[in-house]
Amino acid sequence: MDLAQTIRNVPDFPVEGIQFKDITTLLQDPVPFRAAVDEMLDAYRDRPIDVVVGIESRGFIWGAILAYEMGVGFVPVRKPGKLPAETIRAEYALEYGTNALEMHVDALRPGQKVLVVDDLLATGGTAKATCELVERLGGEVVGVAFLIELTFLHGRDKLSGYDVLSLISMDD
Ligand code: AMP
Repeated sequence: MDLAQTIRNVPDFPVEGIQFKDITTLLQDPVPFRAAVDEMLDAYRDRPIDVVVGIESRGFIWGAILAYEMGVGFVPVRKPGKLPAETIRAEYALEYGTNALEMHVDALRPGQKVLVVDDLLATGGTAKATCELVERLGGEVVGVAFLIELTFLHGRDKLSGYDVLSLISMDD
């Protein structure tokens, strides 16, 4: 099925010039929702994964489902000030603005194999910062998975050295 058709494009959100890729239209329809989850699960079926790390906030949707279905744990990476216990932090640049991400210091054990998950790859800064957090805690990033990749922003280049998967490529 053509998953790209189920994504809504919202021009000038949240700021002028950004074409926001709205995944709620995919999520609200059980057929593409299941197709997307199943395609991601198939891609990692034979891979050793100990933990799925999901990036706030839409990465939580995919990450938690994948972790549950894989029978592994789920770790949230959150915006600053949201996680209650001791955290480590990484700064990153977004397609619009800058931000930071945090992870609990005890969220991973050294040597754990980690799948990083988010809804969309734009410039790659968010995912790169997340991979850095994982590695600072001694985790090994075995894959970085996205529902959507905005190919014209070349986020994949920023993630060179990582195994990157996206289900939908968009060139505008
Ligand atoms: P980046 O760090 O530039 O790869 O940005 C990726 C993060 O920003 C992801 O968490 C996305 O959810 C969000 N994001 C960036 N650009 C868009 C966009 N055009 N539409 C929807 N979400 C976006």
